Amino acid sequence: MRQSTMLIPTLKETPADAESASHRFLLRAGFIRQNAAGIYSYLPLGHRVLKKIEAIVREEMDKAGCVELLMPALQPAELWHESGRWDVYGPELMRLKDRHDRDFALGATHEELITSLVRDELNSYKKLPMTLYQIQTKYRDERRPRFGLLRGREFVMKDAYSFHSDEASLDERYQIMYDAYKRVFERCGLNVRAVIADSGAMGGKDTHEFMALAEIGEDTIAYSDQSDYAANVEMAKVLHIDEKPDEAPLPLDEGEAKRGQAYEIETRFFKAGEDLIAVLFRKGDEVNDVKVKNALGVDIVFEAESDIDPLNPSERVVVMADNGVKNVVNGTLLDASGNVRHFNVNPERDLSAVRFDDLRMIKEGDPSPDGKGRIRFARGIEVGQVFKLGTKYSEAMNARFLDENGKSRPIIMGCYGIGISRTLAAIAEQHHDEAGLKWPVVVAPFAVHIVPVNVKNAEQKQTAEALYEQLKTQYEVLLDDRDERAGVKFAEADLIGCPVRVTVGKKAGEGIVEVKVRATGEVRECNVSELLHVVDECLNRV
Ligand code: ATP
Ligand code: MG
Repeated sequence: MRQSTMLIPTLKETPADAESASHRFLLRAGFIRQNAAGIYSYLPLGHRVLKKIEAIVREEMDKAGCVELLMPALQPAELWHESGRWDVYGPELMRLKDRHDRDFALGATHEELITSLVRDELNSYKKLPMTLYQIQTKYRDERRPRFGLLRGREFVMKDAYSFHSDEASLDERYQIMYDAYKRVFERCGLNVRAVIADSGAMGGKDTHEFMALAEIGEDTIAYSDQSDYAANVEMAKVLHIDEKPDEAPLPLDEGEAKRGQAYEIETRFFKAGEDLIAVLFRKGDEVNDVKVKNALGVDIVFEAESDIDPLNPSERVVVMADNGVKNVVNGTLLDASGNVRHFNVNPERDLSAVRFDDLRMIKEGDPSPDGKGRIRFARGIEVGQVFKLGTKYSEAMNARFLDENGKSRPIIMGCYGIGISRTLAAIAEQHHDEAGLKWPVVVAPFAVHIVPVNVKNAEQKQTAEALYEQLKTQYEVLLDDRDERAGVKFAEADLIGCPVRVTVGKKAGEGIVEVKVRATGEVRECNVSELLHVVDECLNRV
């Protein structure tokens, strides 16, 4: 492709609102442009990378026995009413009306739509299992669209849905998808860790998130320094509880309040529907909302304020305490402002109706939940997730099949998502330096960038054109045929980040050009007669 014919609007200045490296460089190198908050155009270079990631995903999905289809983005509200999600999804779901005043949603995800499609078709065990997928645009009115393609309001997702007659079949499919996801991200050149994630209140089913490690990541991963254990920090179980100190329990509220971390107990309040929940925890620990919600078996909890005394709660209050509180002796219970409410509190004696549970965030240095090593933290970008849905949607939406005995049962489902556009940004996040992007070969917009230093020089121009014709037969090649200063061309080539740059300069007359490997910075001269071979070598090496 000739650079003069392409739309590559590079920027010299760093855009002020671009907070992450991927956002900065994708804008500066002319891969994307923002049209509204969280809404982007993929310009020719960005589009090429997007299509390559899609191709890898498509290949791995097809290899894993999934079948592609395409569903509409515009979905009738009735389906979302059937599943119950019209009311619970919240403002993230983009809603609109047609000319007949009928409600529609722009698909944030497609469980409803696909369940409605299969419910009349997959009606016998003989037609199961089946896994369908699409690559399609999704809409989510995110509260904080940010970091460019990493959190958009319109984005490209690969979503797959599987249908089964029994759990064993779902388990098998889950593993196949898990393995396929690992291969997809590996092929994209991403350093990814699969972590145990939150499956919500509905039944503790398996789910893993695939996290691309990056400082900018919005998720924290807790991993063991000595084993494969890795979990979203919210899901990491805390097994360790301090031993009970060898201290005699004193009568409640008599004598003096003891201060310091070993004694102090704090309280946070939550609302779950109409219920008020008090959560007691050791000072220095942090309450984990996800664990609270899962312990209560509800979908969501909200932070609340209250001055209720957890030792003398009214009936409407559920009092819960983190396991770490259990072994406190002569503790000091603080109120919301940090003032002493009670002292010489001995939890099992004084908190009669309390429920102890694992409710705190794990900390760096805690023992790993698998008993091997200690916990460390890393930041990650969620690029994919696999999820055992079970019968949540098939029951709500009446998608049933007849089993071998002619008995009607709800179809068992799984769902599997990859953020294609987010993956593009995650690759940029992991592959760049201060000069620009460094694309892995398989997803690069072009493999080779030919840069004649001076197109007004006939020798350079002719050599570049000849090499372009030759290399084009083997690779995807971008020819910088513009009449620009050499410095500008080189800076832009580094910014765009094609894996190999061929510079055609002063030695063109002698048949000598320079080859630079973007990822390593390695530069060497070679004769045009051996260029194909050298480029080959460079591409296999990077
Ligand atoms: P997050 O927690 O980051 O909001 P999610 O868990 O809600 O994401 P899923 O419903 O699991 O997202 O969607 C599947 C995949 O789609 C995610 O793993 C992610 O890669 C991608 N994705 C989700 N939301 C966005 C978004 N706003 N912009 C770009 N990609 C997204
Ligand atoms: Mg997710």
